[in-house]
Amino acid sequence: MPELSSYLEAAGEPRFRAKQIAGWMYSKLVFRVADMTDLPAGLRDRMADDFLSPGSSVAERLESPDGTVKLRVLLHDGESVETVVIPSLNRVTLCISTQVGCPVGCRFCASGANGLVRNLCAGEILEQFCLGCEEAGRRVDNIVFMGIGEGLLNFQELSHALDVLSSPDGMAFAPRRITVSTSGYVPGMRRLAELKKEYNLAISLHAVDDRTRSSIIPDRVRYPINEILEAADAYRDAVNRFYTFEYTLISGVNDSLPEAKKLGEIAMLHHAKVNLIPVNPVNPEFSRPSQRAIRAFEQTVASTGAMVTVRSERGSGRDAACGQLRISARRRQ
Ligand code: SAH
Ligand code: SF4
Repeated sequence: MPELSSYLEAAGEPRFRAKQIAGWMYSKLVFRVADMTDLPAGLRDRMADDFLSPGSSVAERLESPDGTVKLRVLLHDGESVETVVIPSLNRVTLCISTQVGCPVGCRFCASGANGLVRNLCAGEILEQFCLGCEEAGRRVDNIVFMGIGEGLLNFQELSHALDVLSSPDGMAFAPRRITVSTSGYVPGMRRLAELKKEYNLAISLHAVDDRTRSSIIPDRVRYPINEILEAADAYRDAVNRFYTFEYTLISGVNDSLPEAKKLGEIAMLHHAKVNLIPVNPVNPEFSRPSQRAIRAFEQTVASTGAMVTVRSERGSGRDAACGQLRISARRRQ
């Protein structure tokens, strides 16, 4: 908002214009300057020339039978990312990407298969919010940064976007309705804690020992589990908010019952909840455990007293698992 105010001031516009434009964007969910009918035509033309308004558009829309809608969002330079609209009984969750590709390269994930192409800028992150609300037909209720990319490796742009989303002058989203997911990039977790906002933090743990973890996450960006837990605890204490572990369940890799017990114990020790995600088929080397094995793993985690849920399979039809829309679009090019 300060950027918009100074732009309008430089354009010789009265002070109330910034509020007027914010009203269109944040209350009426109208994001195209051309549609902001009470702005002077000259200003609308000028803004349309000066800003990439909007620079992103929906190139592909894939709806699953459960109502989940994956959007392939085309960026101004021809690259694309995914944004997912996930409706449930009485709320809508939006899953947003932070990078084109991902430098972490977890071996089960399509997003990192070709490394990092580039970071998204804050505007591109926010445009996904706008396109997601347009798709949902209303303001979404929750935002999760669980799309393509490791947001904490794009900290400056992510934190700028978080600021606009949560600022009372911006989208006025309660930080508690926003979740940042990380593969455990410790320096980024520490910087997020410095913001002192109650964003939910989700840690993609995936293993209870570093050896197993190193077999699924390459060395490049991976931190030792004990350092990740230390930074996560520091985050919890700084913002007064419990965090969550995400654990992608892969048959024969990290799904044994002793690992389930250890996971439960770690979760209890750190007051964290556990979210189990049966792996979506991306890499033929990794397959999903049987329903029975998933249930046994869940029960063993729960037997330690830890809170545990299994992520219901949503939108994981053909080519719809995390990162796959973007990859399949590249293949077709
Ligand atoms: N880079 C961040 C956020 C994006 S990934 C992170 O890793 O946390 C969001 C979640 O999707 C992660 O928990 C990741 O483990 C999960 N994920 C990625 N590919 C998956 C797959 N093929 N099957 C199941 N979960 C997957
Ligand atoms: Fe990147 Fe997250 Fe995918 Fe790992 S799981 S490659 S960190 S997007």
